[in-house]
Amino acid sequence: MRRLVIPAAALVSLGTWGGGAAQAQSLAPDWSRIEAETLEHYQALVRLDTSNPPGNETRAANYLRDVLEREGIAVEMFALDPERANLVARLPGSGARRPLLLMGHTDVVTVDPTRWTHPPFGAVREGGYVYGRGTLDDKDNLTASLMMMLTLKRLGVPLDREVIFLAEAGEEGTTRWGIDFMVAEHFDRIDAEFCLAEGGSVTRESSAVRYASIGTLEKIPRAVELIARGPAGHASVPLLTNPVARLSIAVGAVAQWQPPIRLNETTTEFFRRVGPISPPNDARSVADLLSGQPARVDAAIRYFQENVPGWAAILRTSASPTILQAGTRTNVIPSEARATIDVRLLPDDDPEEVLRQIREVVNDPAVEVRFVNPTGRPPGGSAIDTEAFRAIERAVSRHYQTVTLPSMGTGATDMAQLRAQRVQCYGIGPAIDREDGPLGFGSHSDQERILESELHRFVRFYWDIVNDLAARR
Ligand SMILES: [Zn+2]
Repeated sequence: MRRLVIPAAALVSLGTWGGGAAQAQSLAPDWSRIEAETLEHYQALVRLDTSNPPGNETRAANYLRDVLEREGIAVEMFALDPERANLVARLPGSGARRPLLLMGHTDVVTVDPTRWTHPPFGAVREGGYVYGRGTLDDKDNLTASLMMMLTLKRLGVPLDREVIFLAEAGEEGTTRWGIDFMVAEHFDRIDAEFCLAEGGSVTRESSAVRYASIGTLEKIPRAVELIARGPAGHASVPLLTNPVARLSIAVGAVAQWQPPIRLNETTTEFFRRVGPISPPNDARSVADLLSGQPARVDAAIRYFQENVPGWAAILRTSASPTILQAGTRTNVIPSEARATIDVRLLPDDDPEEVLRQIREVVNDPAVEVRFVNPTGRPPGGSAIDTEAFRAIERAVSRHYQTVTLPSMGTGATDMAQLRAQRVQCYGIGPAIDREDGPLGFGSHSDQERILESELHRFVRFYWDIVNDLAARR
């Protein structure tokens, strides 16, 4: 598709764009100006300390409100706690199609400043990177969403869909202030056909793009607690009922548990597409998995467990023991021992049925098995066969010249709550070097960083998706 290059300043000075003659495809932003402004907002947002807890997300919401209102974009603030506001901004569409929601979270995980080489809220630029808490999670998506709103408005792009921007609080473990509150109390302000948010990324290796992962659904985290109980006593007299021993056997059994594997639309398509771009051993195991022949499938599972644990994790419900609590003195058999298991359900699992299976695996009436919380994130996924997924695939080809892998996240994002309301949500993100995570530069790390050039490429990629989906046809 050919793009007409017109400086943004010229468009703005004409002032009347948005007429029927102006096709969105011919409205080309001035990218050098947009890059400078992207960096300005991005650095400003990283410099606002919105560590959660406590959050203080209103700092970021106020900044965004000021920027948006300066452009004449209507803004609403919704807060369950005045320090933890959510912001909603909207650009009107013709109503021909249902809205498009752009989402980013304003909170970040906490920091230990003594571990940081660069100040965590400094947004320092060095060697082509920007360093700081939130540079990858999620002030990149937040800034890109903001730039979409500003650029659509300035160019007067005529829209078939209303475009809504939600800057939400509390994503990092306290969703009641953010997405839960917005869905429960103000869903009419954010209801959309499609949503774009964090939960995807483009993977580079040795600076070359390998593939783009687009989040279409997520496993559902549920903490399960095992509690062994028995009489306390002097440890000089061993007891068969010793809760520490009973719990240890139960934890071992759960760690060994191999629930049946089950592929869904996303994971099937993921393996179909990832096979051909994988190194020979990985590719062979993917072929084994997809063969459906039991012996080859078993070999593939074992290979993944040893070599590509992330692929093994999306095949089935998983259980990782993570916390053990028991005993205070060497010579005392305690009356209780507890373990916490991080269970990740497949999206279509029945939680009660999984709990029943874990009880069966533990097979000890002295060990109670229960969910730590009565409810988890709601189930729900997004389809691959949609206008939005195809638009994302086209933009991936155009900007990254690589394959798009629909991906089921093993972690959780706030898209879960929206998918439960039948919003089709897709996780996207900028390109990241695979080498960066193990070197300690990943999200939530204490050297979190982004390549500036990839932030800018992400904004251009995002722009094409938004135009493809929302601009007047
Ligand atoms: Zn995040």
